Amino acid sequence: MTQNGSCLCGAIHYTVTGPLGPAAACHCGQCRKSSGHYPAAASAKWDDVRVSGDVRWYKSSDAARRGFCPTCGSYLFWEEYDGLVYLALGALNGDTGLILQDHIFYADKGAYYKATDGRPCFSAGRSGPQVAP
Ligand SMILES: [Zn+2]
Ligand SMILES: [Zn+2]
Repeated sequence: MTQNGSCLCGAIHYTVTGPLGPAAACHCGQCRKSSGHYPAAASAKWDDVRVSGDVRWYKSSDAARRGFCPTCGSYLFWEEYDGLVYLALGALNGDTGLILQDHIFYADKGAYYKATDGRPCFSAGRSGPQVAP
């Protein structure tokens, strides 16, 4: 199944042809700063993704970088150089068939909201402890 995504202004388009990983909302401070709230994303193999347009990359840590549109600022991609790219789900067009599975890095969430969807909340990554929403 081919899915398409783009930034807000349309300067960057992409298609993804392979399966997407589970959808997670990330509440870490970097994700919240870069998105303005908290983003949901799902992984894909870079080999399955074709991007057109000039993505700007920001090295947000030694281990990872974030891709965005230099014209409209849309946050699109996160990767840690392991062959996967995490696609910001708000940039995908139409119904991806994905339902948010869980919340990660919930210990870093903002004080102004709580997750209310009943999905598991992990203190950090999925391999760590769960916390109350
Ligand atoms: Zn754009
Ligand atoms: Zn994050």
